[in-house]
Amino acid sequence: MVLGVRIQRNFIKAGIFNLKGNLKKEKKVEVKDFWDFENTINTLMKLIKEFKEITESPQKHVLSLGIASPGPIISRKDEIAFITNFSGWKNVNLKEYLTDKLNIDILIEHDVNAAILAEKYLGSYKKEDMIYFSVDRGIGAGILSRNKVLRGVLLTAGEIGHTSIKYNGPECECGNRGCLELYCSTTKLLDKAKKYRHEILPDETQEDELTVKSISEAAAGGNETAKKLLRENAYYFNIGLINLINILATPHIIIGGEIQEAGTIWLNMVKEFFAEKAMDHLANNVKIKFSKLQSSSSFYGAGIAAINHVINNPDIIYKKSS
Ligand SMILES: [Zn+2]
Repeated sequence: MVLGVRIQRNFIKAGIFNLKGNLKKEKKVEVKDFWDFENTINTLMKLIKEFKEITESPQKHVLSLGIASPGPIISRKDEIAFITNFSGWKNVNLKEYLTDKLNIDILIEHDVNAAILAEKYLGSYKKEDMIYFSVDRGIGAGILSRNKVLRGVLLTAGEIGHTSIKYNGPECECGNRGCLELYCSTTKLLDKAKKYRHEILPDETQEDELTVKSISEAAAGGNETAKKLLRENAYYFNIGLINLINILATPHIIIGGEIQEAGTIWLNMVKEFFAEKAMDHLANNVKIKFSKLQSSSSFYGAGIAAINHVINNPDIIYKKSS
């Protein structure tokens, strides 16, 4: 057995997987104050200890723990460089921090790289060359090239969210200006929608009822403000999408993350912009889909990363059973 954990800015999800990647049990815990590193990590450790306890017996061992986290992740050092909007998570060596406390073999994986692994084994394309484009509270891409996750020499490839689409745009936490994620993350979509809440939702609804899904439902019902916000988001996203495909020439694109709640109304907007603005040879050959794993690609990928880690490091098995 292995454990897979998905850390998100608003929840932590843990699961027990067998070595075939089948999910045996899962639990999701909401995280309200993610900015508070200690508190979030304590929630995470409690969850892992609980799962270890119910899984382990003299015959059964948890061989490894895969953690899929937002990043950028400096894989060489197992370090989370930063998580935008959460200053407490800067230069955190999560592996070292947890290994000391949990006595378990740990692998930290960038959430989008975990997601593309899950798409490779469980997704709808199952191709050797694919991109998983996550549009969530942040933006990033997991790239599968010739059946391998493309990490680059510095092991941080795929940071499309921090490529600039406006040279004199607002400053980003990464140090650059006008980064893609400042324009089309779901954080940005929800922030903008808050200003027009009373135009989008009936007056009696509360602020927390304003979600990507409720914006999409309003748009589907003919609400012009909601449609405009989704269109704007899709427009900016498409700029990043074309940039990435122009560089990598990858024909199979999977879009995942919270934006999936926006449904086909948003996806069709992206496809329209793509058909209009991409070069013809790309527009005619690139396929764009939502992930069939809904927003769970990174979660499943955390489990798969842990399994692959055990297979590549068989000493873990012998150490555990001795
Ligand atoms: Zn940036």
